[in-house]
Amino acid sequence: MKIAILGAMPEEIEPLLEKVEDIVRVDYANNTYYKATYKGIEIVIAYSKIGSAFSTLTATILLEKFGCDKLLFSGVAGAINEELEIGDLIYATKLCKHDLDITAFGHPHGFVPEGKVFIYPNEELTEIAKEVANSKDIELKGGVIATGDQFIHDNTKKEWIKETFNADAIEMEGYSVALVCDALNVPFFILRAISDSANSDASFDFDEFLEKSAKVSADFILEMVERV
Ligand code: SAH
Repeated sequence: MKIAILGAMPEEIEPLLEKVEDIVRVDYANNTYYKATYKGIEIVIAYSKIGSAFSTLTATILLEKFGCDKLLFSGVAGAINEELEIGDLIYATKLCKHDLDITAFGHPHGFVPEGKVFIYPNEELTEIAKEVANSKDIELKGGVIATGDQFIHDNTKKEWIKETFNADAIEMEGYSVALVCDALNVPFFILRAISDSANSDASFDFDEFLEKSAKVSADFILEMVERV
């Protein structure tokens, strides 16, 4: 078994690279992949760069070139659900693409023909995450994660995404990664720690809390690796 661990930004994978062993760096397709082991388990770590295009590319390479047979995403997100606070962990129960819009042709938001509005992660990995949370007494929430190629820092937009997709958190890569894994039948799990509340303070909060929240997520993901 080989597990892919993917982030979007360097800050999201740095806490992982500090804890794994036997790192071998592979440069490929304008990106760097870190083959490594953690407690004897083979893993490949990478950050994709921000957004759906880059994350689609990196997720595909992790599965097709490196042969990973499970994928865990670790990163940060903006909160939409008011119950989520900075530093809280949320995993995706399903994911959608909030900025996919061909409604002019009568289709719902987030839908294109032969696609799906929502993609669902693997239940077994979700159960493992719940076990980790229980055993370590970590609060872990599940919810709808909305992906789009925009940093949301505006209450009106945030409310629209909440109402349209019933979303709890917002980020820029989850749906694309989910789409790749779903198409290739590879079990995946998307975890995010909250870095901001997607409101007018979001860019300031993001800069302040990115590293701390990214580490919360990365530490949890490594706990999961041991049990996968
Ligand atoms: N500060 C960075 C840009 C960060 S973009 C720079 O200047 O390079 C935000 C990243 O964090 C994305 O990878 C996204 O997945 C996640 N994210 C966190 N909060 C978000 C929000 N409010 N809206 C959208 N994505 C968010």
